[in-house]
Amino acid sequence: MPEGSGGEDDRVVTPSAGPPDAGPLVRVYGRTLDPAGHMLRDFLSRTVAQYTWTEVASDQDSIAALGVPLREARLPVVQLPGGEFLEEPDPSTLARRLGWVLEPSVEVYDLSIYGAGPAGLSAAVYAASEGLRVAVIERDAVGGQASWSSLIENYLGFPEGISGAALAERARQQAVKFGAELLQMRAGEHGLFANKLLRVDLSDGSVMTSRSNICATGVRWRRLGIADEEHFFGVGLFYGSGLGEAPQCAGEDIAVVGGANSAGQAAMNLSEHARKVTLLVRGPELSDRMSAYLVDRIAATANIEVRTGTVVSALVGEGRLESVMARSADGAETRLPVSRVFVCIGGEANTEWAAANADLVRDEDGFFLTGNDLSPELLDGVWPLERRPFDLETSTPGFFAIGDVRRGSIKRVASAVGEGALAVSLVHRFLAESR
Ligand SMILES: Cc1cc2nc3c(=O)[nH]c(=O)nc-3n(C[C@H](O)[C@H](O)[C@H](O)COP(=O)(O)OP(=O)(O)OC[C@H]3O[C@@H](n4cnc5c(N)ncnc54)[C@H](O)[C@@H]3O)c2cc1C
Repeated sequence: MPEGSGGEDDRVVTPSAGPPDAGPLVRVYGRTLDPAGHMLRDFLSRTVAQYTWTEVASDQDSIAALGVPLREARLPVVQLPGGEFLEEPDPSTLARRLGWVLEPSVEVYDLSIYGAGPAGLSAAVYAASEGLRVAVIERDAVGGQASWSSLIENYLGFPEGISGAALAERARQQAVKFGAELLQMRAGEHGLFANKLLRVDLSDGSVMTSRSNICATGVRWRRLGIADEEHFFGVGLFYGSGLGEAPQCAGEDIAVVGGANSAGQAAMNLSEHARKVTLLVRGPELSDRMSAYLVDRIAATANIEVRTGTVVSALVGEGRLESVMARSADGAETRLPVSRVFVCIGGEANTEWAAANADLVRDEDGFFLTGNDLSPELLDGVWPLERRPFDLETSTPGFFAIGDVRRGSIKRVASAVGEGALAVSLVHRFLAESR
């Protein structure tokens, strides 16, 4: 294949508040409404990588960009900074080829941390800076949910706000600087504590061994729970704030579903590109779950319409999404013509792997119980020590849970970061007593 065109239609997507070094340029070619292309753009946006996106919709486009007619192009195609082309890569393959996937350097770590969202990254910074040998295992992009946030305005020290991806990238650099090892694109799948060591099977077939563990696996986007979600995913239906998708919304009418801060931020960000954004909110008031500053901004943005007391009842379209049915509180249904819908309706705990482990007490929604939430009855037959669990400790000694995955957590970046710091001080106590 020839060099990519990098021509005038290329959209250069540069993070709004990127890290000190935004990295070399990656070129992505593909069809606009293709789930595989969406996953790559989403991953690169959240990784604060500089990339271009070029739509390939005709033979002419394909020959100009890739040197082959459309039917022969195995889209999406990515051109790496060195010039090499990857056909139909997934984010994991791309990350590996970009050299972002590292291997562990030691056999037994003092601490393993699962999840590189704000909570896990914070724990990594404190643990590594305090001399612990620490590995952070992350199955996806660094930053967790925060990496979908276009602008975090309520985190201490950033009066102008900062994009969640940029904040996470800075935290990643800080953790790595202190010696934390970040092992990306693999998930923790099953763990067992025996002989004072935790052994966890990872999704790449390897085993991670550590003396203590912090689970910071957060939550994943909740689905709407209506028909045809799988069918329309990536061809008009998206979960999350659509950071990588925003430029594609230019001139279109779109919808955002949700009434909390993540939906508000998504609506604000997408309104800079779309012709009109309709925010569909199930509750009666926008202010019930959204910060006042966002409610005010939305009210002052001319191309955002808010419909409260409304849910999406159906997705409609031939091949791609063309409209949604919006049902209001009185049961009336109206058709809303939109090309894209972004679903931001909160999350479900990422703890399905713990279902097989009866010693780890979770609530009915899968969130880990820690510290004082663990009553003597819940600990009976499970907890082996005389002392009670520490504050952020689960029902298994040396296994801590922090951030959004913990029952009763505040669901804020600041509290996730704070719990990361606190958990590391408790890890020190656990390691001292288990020597
Ligand atoms: C769009 C959006 C905007 C937001 N805006 C704000 C805001 O303005 N201010 C604010 O304070 N908060 C905001 N929040 C909330 C905030 O981002 C979260 O509270 C915070 O990210 C929680 O951090 P966490 O580290 O606990 O979990 P998460 O951020 O959910 O990170 C969990 C990480 O664990 C990884 N993981 C999951 N399972 C595994 C596994 N088995 N193995 C390895 N890795 C795994 C995930 O891939 C993810 O990277 C926003 C959230 C969203 C979605």
